[in-house]
Amino acid sequence: MTDYIIAIDQGTTSTRAIVFDHSGSIVSTGQLEHDQIFPKAGWVEHDPKQIWDNTREVIGQALSKANITRHNVKAVGITNQRETAVVWDKNTGEPVYNAIVWQDTRTQAIVDRLSEDGGAERFKDTVGLPLSTYFAGTKIVWILENVEGARERAEAGDLLFGTTDTWVLWNLTGGVDGGVHATDVTNASRTLFMDLETLEWRDDILEVFGVPKSMLPAIKSSSEIYGTVHTSSLLREVPVAGILGDQQAATFGQAAFDAGEAKNTYGTGNFLIFNTGTEIVKSKNGLLTTLGYKLGDAEPHYALEGSIAVTGSLVQWLRDNLGLIKSAPEIEELAATVEDNGGAYFVPAFSGLFAPYWRSDARGALVGLTRYVNKGHIARAALEATAFQTKEVLDAVNADSGVPLTELKVDGGMIANNLLMQFQADILDVPVVRPVVAETTALGAAYAAGLAVGYWADLDELRANWQEDSRWTPDLDSAERDRLYRNWKKAVTKTMDWVD
Ligand code: ADP
Repeated sequence: MTDYIIAIDQGTTSTRAIVFDHSGSIVSTGQLEHDQIFPKAGWVEHDPKQIWDNTREVIGQALSKANITRHNVKAVGITNQRETAVVWDKNTGEPVYNAIVWQDTRTQAIVDRLSEDGGAERFKDTVGLPLSTYFAGTKIVWILENVEGARERAEAGDLLFGTTDTWVLWNLTGGVDGGVHATDVTNASRTLFMDLETLEWRDDILEVFGVPKSMLPAIKSSSEIYGTVHTSSLLREVPVAGILGDQQAATFGQAAFDAGEAKNTYGTGNFLIFNTGTEIVKSKNGLLTTLGYKLGDAEPHYALEGSIAVTGSLVQWLRDNLGLIKSAPEIEELAATVEDNGGAYFVPAFSGLFAPYWRSDARGALVGLTRYVNKGHIARAALEATAFQTKEVLDAVNADSGVPLTELKVDGGMIANNLLMQFQADILDVPVVRPVVAETTALGAAYAAGLAVGYWADLDELRANWQEDSRWTPDLDSAERDRLYRNWKKAVTKTMDWVD
């Protein structure tokens, strides 16, 4: 009987369950999208119950497509959209409010209030993050302040908080019937509450935020047995043994285990993670300091991260809000109808600008327009925006680390786009490399779970699984590269100071 590992990837747009074999190859996949709820401008929510229902269903899909049962599954790993906050009642399992998604900017007033005493970077030395609407901490505060009765119930010890890894883990392991309330260090490092050195919640910061500690999950490593799946599930009695936030999981799945290795994921947003080993590097160039991974009792690995809020979601926006394309891949055909961007630059600061600017007052701009510009140019400008934003982040990584990256490992939904990948190599002037297994996020979670139960022996074994699929080599003269990038930088300046 062949054994497998199953990874649950609770992403921003969908939830997937993927069965992996020992070589790290995909055996089967179950996938369901969930609703994106936009109650007001700047607000983004998910229904936690729908996410949990979908999780159960995609597990069933993946098992039946692979024609296996729980007896063939050695462990479950979880990876998740990070920072998205769920608060629920531990006695009923009912969320008190929808999940507030990482892209949501409703907590700006809370950020401003907390920044009054000491500025937006007041906790950055301790937690690695500036105060921003992006992180889970301010979203918890919003729920406590705006959902009737929430604060009283939280103070009475009835409410639990979790990012979606914790929500899935708690439900998988039994929910109200003994569910395990835990998270891993990588997810905890996105709340604003975890001390990067001690890997514990900071009482003083919780006090400033007014968040009761009883709401918070236990912080565990990324690779250990947290509990076993409850008897009510198809995977009953299988150990849940790995948790990594999606970007850290992708880094792990790309086998970027050591200091100096990096990956860039092109999904709803873009996330470049640069492994700094066991050293905590504090950025001087607008990057975040975050946990990379921690395997059981071993020392933690840290990382620098450049997060970009809007990349693939700009393609969705052109599809859903403008109807310019019918499906995301169509953008490549449309962009290929023209030679260049026709002078148009599209800065998709829909949720403000993340790295390296951290300007929540920015809003999107499409500039450089003339009568000449057509929808092909706009499609191209939208794709180029992803590449330019990545260059800004990579420049910051190179400045912080002092050692320029010589190639970029990539993954995520947008890397199917050849035009984008070639332009990315051109604008960065380094090769862009794609692995055979492009589902690196789920793979990373599977790896973390498999290591904990001895399915894989060590990191060397995982490294040997990584194989190159394709490579894009730079092919643009430097004067043209500089001109394009200069114009991009000018376009970015048009987006600032937009919100009063
Ligand atoms: P996430 O894990 O963040 O949900 P994925 O890695 O699944 O995201 O990537 C989905 C994103 O990639 C969507 O925003 C979609 O618009 C974009 N996308 C998918 N295919 C293409 C393509 N061929 N060209 C450009 N963008 C694409």
